[in-house]
Amino acid sequence: MSLPVVAIIGRPNVGKSTLFNRLVGKKVALVDDRPGVTRDRREGDANLSGMNFRLVDTAGFEEDDAATLPGRMRAQTQAAVAGADVALFVIDSRAGLVPLDQEIARWLRGTNTPVILIANKAEGRAGDSGVYESFSLGFGEPIPFSAEHGEGLADLFDELMPHLDRIAVEAVVEEDDESPSAPLKMAIVGRPNAGKSTLVNKILGEERMITGPEAGITRDSIAIEWEFEGRAVRLIDTAGLRRKAKVEDKLEKLSAADTAHAIDFAEVVVLLLDATRGLEAQDLRIADQIFEEGRAMVIALNKWDVAEGQSALFNGVRFALDEGFAQVKGVPLLTVSAATGKGLDVLLKVAFETRDAWSKRVPTGELNRWFERALEANPPPAPGGRRIKLRYITQIKSRPPSFVIFGTRVDQLPESYRRYLVNGIRRELGFGAVPVRLTFRAPK
Ligand code: GDP
Ligand code: GDP
Repeated sequence: MSLPVVAIIGRPNVGKSTLFNRLVGKKVALVDDRPGVTRDRREGDANLSGMNFRLVDTAGFEEDDAATLPGRMRAQTQAAVAGADVALFVIDSRAGLVPLDQEIARWLRGTNTPVILIANKAEGRAGDSGVYESFSLGFGEPIPFSAEHGEGLADLFDELMPHLDRIAVEAVVEEDDESPSAPLKMAIVGRPNAGKSTLVNKILGEERMITGPEAGITRDSIAIEWEFEGRAVRLIDTAGLRRKAKVEDKLEKLSAADTAHAIDFAEVVVLLLDATRGLEAQDLRIADQIFEEGRAMVIALNKWDVAEGQSALFNGVRFALDEGFAQVKGVPLLTVSAATGKGLDVLLKVAFETRDAWSKRVPTGELNRWFERALEANPPPAPGGRRIKLRYITQIKSRPPSFVIFGTRVDQLPESYRRYLVNGIRRELGFGAVPVRLTFRAPK
């Protein structure tokens, strides 16, 4: 996985190399008092409080031609900025703004790269006026900074974070997201006799799944692919669906193995319930298994054609699900009849929608705007009088959507607060009832 790229921009002698060395941690850049000593573009892997990115130190701009950027330097810098996720624009707050700073600012405003303004050499108070002056560059509030003394790093961290969509967090492996046009990988699970085989046969429109005896009971699963409204669906067809176990007492065992296999395969798992029997403990166990595996889930109440007291039944199952299965409160609950085919179109539509939510990515900026509102509406608790500080959130992967929140003293955060945030993510960021993973980290 490639690291996000951050470029350091600024005229000579403002402290770019010093900043580079501070973040990359090695003395690889040449630091000199003479303007223009820094020439080449250097790159290094930077680490700021556990946040990793690729740092590019651009060539210094030549000063002699004060009003215009020398073409060669400018081209090189331009290339660096264009390839960067964020630009750190460094000024010397002691020297104050000079025309070349204005020139660089004008030019940076014309690019699409987000800019963070760093008022360097601001240790002590010697840079105060330069810090205020730099507001006029039009990049918002500058970060008072000292590359030499390591001041302002926490503010830089906070400012940088929302811009980086691709934060490298150790031990998290980025998966390749499959495109929305890839076949929907679906599995149908449920207790024996819930109607799985009947459902699969009905969807496929032919009675070919439980035909005639096959030799032995095979564990092999095959995938059946077809199109629904122009979109491909791939359904796992397990041994248990193809053919019923002959030996009655093997039925449970076989179906447990099939269930695990099917869940493993699928993006969306349809949990089929038998409406004539209602919700049973084993159904909740399977639901829990689907959730633990991070799969998107749709629950369908089958045999609706023969269900009695339909509205009371439906509400009862809805209630029991939400009570017994709080993790995915609100998981889609549909009514179908595998025998008549009623509700199967809706089932497939909802399965596609659920996969979309499961695959969704929220840009870090939008995510953090939501996060700020959520913290404001209900601030984290303050155990022992010291408030737990949550700084920012980032989505580290999708399928299932997984988020990390960075902050301090996060180990003291109560589970109820985590649930508050997870529910907010689901409700307000369009994830619906898909399982959302949320972990916390304290940068060292
Ligand atoms: P560059 O040309 O932008 O890469 O600037 P350098 O990193 O080479 O720094 C130019 C000069 O400014 C050097 O003498 C540094 O020691 C000094 N310098 C860099 N950062 C700071 C700082 O935070 N405070 C002060 N007082 N001096 C700094
Ligand atoms: P599986 O063990 O989950 O694969 O269940 P089957 O597909 O073998 O179905 C079990 C029994 O329920 C069979 O007798 C089916 O005919 C019956 N069945 C399945 N779906 C429906 C339905 O929607 N309505 C009715 N009335 N019966 C159904």
